[in-house]
Amino acid sequence: LQRERVCIIGSGNWGTAVAKIIGENVTKHSQVFEPQVQQWVFEEDYQGKPLTQVINATHENPKYLPGIRLADNIHAEPDLVKACSDSTVLVFVLPHQFVRGVCDDLVGKVNPNVKAISLVKGLEIKPDGITLFSEEIGRRLQIEEVAALSGANIADEVAREQFCETTIGSRSEAHGQLFHQLFDTPYFRANVIRDYVGVELCGALKNVVAVAAGISDGLNYGSNTKAALIRLGLMEMRKFGQTFFGGVEDTTFFESCGVADLITTCAGGRNRKVAEAFARTGKPIDVLERELLNGQKLQGSLTAIEVYQFLSARKMTNEFPFFDAVYQILYQGAPLDTIVKL
Ligand code: NAD
Ligand code: 13P
Repeated sequence: LQRERVCIIGSGNWGTAVAKIIGENVTKHSQVFEPQVQQWVFEEDYQGKPLTQVINATHENPKYLPGIRLADNIHAEPDLVKACSDSTVLVFVLPHQFVRGVCDDLVGKVNPNVKAISLVKGLEIKPDGITLFSEEIGRRLQIEEVAALSGANIADEVAREQFCETTIGSRSEAHGQLFHQLFDTPYFRANVIRDYVGVELCGALKNVVAVAAGISDGLNYGSNTKAALIRLGLMEMRKFGQTFFGGVEDTTFFESCGVADLITTCAGGRNRKVAEAFARTGKPIDVLERELLNGQKLQGSLTAIEVYQFLSARKMTNEFPFFDAVYQILYQGAPLDTIVKL
């Protein structure tokens, strides 16, 4: 039987933490997976050397996940098509704004029977409609039943092997099992469900809620306020799912990708951190992203714009006052406490 050859597309903070897990799991399940794993790295200079060279020499990505050793079987590759061309399993783990460009470069270049999973937290929202990244990747690259993984998974904590859970959404049971073998560990416990739509929606929309949580911190409000914002945000996430994606299951919100991810992102995530700085300093979000994140990317501030434009095109912003308030505060100069006056 042919073993699966895995390629990880992306190498940021989460992409690198996931590479650590995958490198270890392909060795553990050596009857299922080839030992060598390719990781496409967006090439950049790191202290005068190409980052891929540094990763391959030291087995560490010092820019995006310093201090964490990757297994020797992870090979960093700067050429996207070369990294993917021979693979039978593709793991997409990129900031959502880069997925379209990566897919453009891969059209017609991947194995026709490849299996794929998206770890991207964001939605492809255009004024004329919303697409899930699993579906967009599937459509663009002609891959069937692309799965999704999302959960309460702050990368640095996962990389330090602190116990947490995650949710895999897969229509295909066989692919679900394969991805369980690829990701599940005793400290990173994966639960497989069918509702991939709910998994992805939660992962994208909770980032907007995290921005509200950061604004609340910046206003020096306490835990009660943050809990209230999490609840209000959760209700609006559910309403968004019910309104635009009829089939989202309520039970998905009780998985790691649902309430658990809301709680952790609103406590310790980057969207929360930068939004707090926004509330305290009044500097634009993109300036703070550059100042505070060392090349890492925010998803919630972009998703807030995308959701707003989508709702606005349908004259429905007043039905989603929470998402509207986050947008108005970040980009239209609305007072910070608009978020508690919904
Ligand atoms: P990151 O924000 O840490 O890093 C940004 C990445 O984008 C880097 O690898 C950089 O090289 C790359 N990049 C920069 N310009 C690019 C371009 N033009 N084209 C392609 N790539 C480019 O990334 P991350 O944390 O791995 O995030 C990937 C996804 O995973 C996001 O959707 C995020 O929400 C999600 N996620 C993150 C965490 C976390 O704790 N970091 C946890 C779970 C999920
Ligand atoms: P941030 O991008 O806000 O850090 O969130 C990380 C995350 O998705 C944790 O599950």
